[in-house]
Amino acid sequence: MSHYQIDLHSHTTASDGILTPTKLVEHAAQQGLTVLGIADHDTVAGVNEAVAAGQQHGLEVMPAIEFSTRHEPDKMFIGLHLLGYFIDPNSATLLEMIEKVRQGRVNQKIRQIEKLQSFGFNIMVDEVFARVKGVPGRPHIAATLLEKYPDRFASIQHIFEEYLGSQAKAHVKRSFVLSVGEVIELVKQVGGLPVLAHPGVYANDGFDPLTIVRNAHKEGVEGVEVWYPYAQSHHAPSMTSNWVSQIDQLADELNLLKTGGTDFHGRPHETVALGEQGLTEAQFDNLKQGWRKNRT
Ligand SMILES: [Zn+2]
Ligand SMILES: [Zn+2]
Repeated sequence: MSHYQIDLHSHTTASDGILTPTKLVEHAAQQGLTVLGIADHDTVAGVNEAVAAGQQHGLEVMPAIEFSTRHEPDKMFIGLHLLGYFIDPNSATLLEMIEKVRQGRVNQKIRQIEKLQSFGFNIMVDEVFARVKGVPGRPHIAATLLEKYPDRFASIQHIFEEYLGSQAKAHVKRSFVLSVGEVIELVKQVGGLPVLAHPGVYANDGFDPLTIVRNAHKEGVEGVEVWYPYAQSHHAPSMTSNWVSQIDQLADELNLLKTGGTDFHGRPHETVALGEQGLTEAQFDNLKQGWRKNRT
């Protein structure tokens, strides 16, 4: 049995999760969850299916999205992840922007595959994109390479280190990425609540999570993901310090709303279970009240 019945951060096959929206909702219902946030990277393509599955299983699906943002070194923003909660997944404004972001990603992945070809790998754009259900990501390229070159690469991680990581040989910059300010504005414009995701993970890149929270607050972020399983996260597997209590305190000081969740991806060796981090009923009520107050 999970600790929390409300988990606001999970991923489906619409981005880099392993389970389809329906399967993920079924899994969540089996775990006894009452509310599940579907927050795929740069897409809401999984939300409507999840909502429908939720209605069948008596589980409330919180429509959400996890935007990647541009690197802004001057503001200490290093490609932060920003969550948008309470969004309308059918908003034309939102879908239009998502499409622009998707095109930017598609172009980047094509150029990345071309780079790999120039290193002598027999890898085709079509075979990588055949794996994509929503938004193409580097894991799709890595999985294709690993399947074709099992003797050359030991693991997906090996491929990232050598070719796909941000310092690696086949790295390509994305042509269209939103800034932190642009994401905040967009989320507010479509009636949602902009939330800074897992600030503690950026300590791994040498940044101070508390300064990042303060800067994001200045940009207009209205919430912060306080409850996050840092020790188990795929973002930060080697993380030793637990940031939860410090970020919790700072959220109080800055009057930021608080969210939480596991960042569940349904991977075969996932060490975190749905609901292991999340919100109590009272905390969720508080979040909803705060959102309503901010948007009306
Ligand atoms: Zn993230
Ligand atoms: Zn996530």
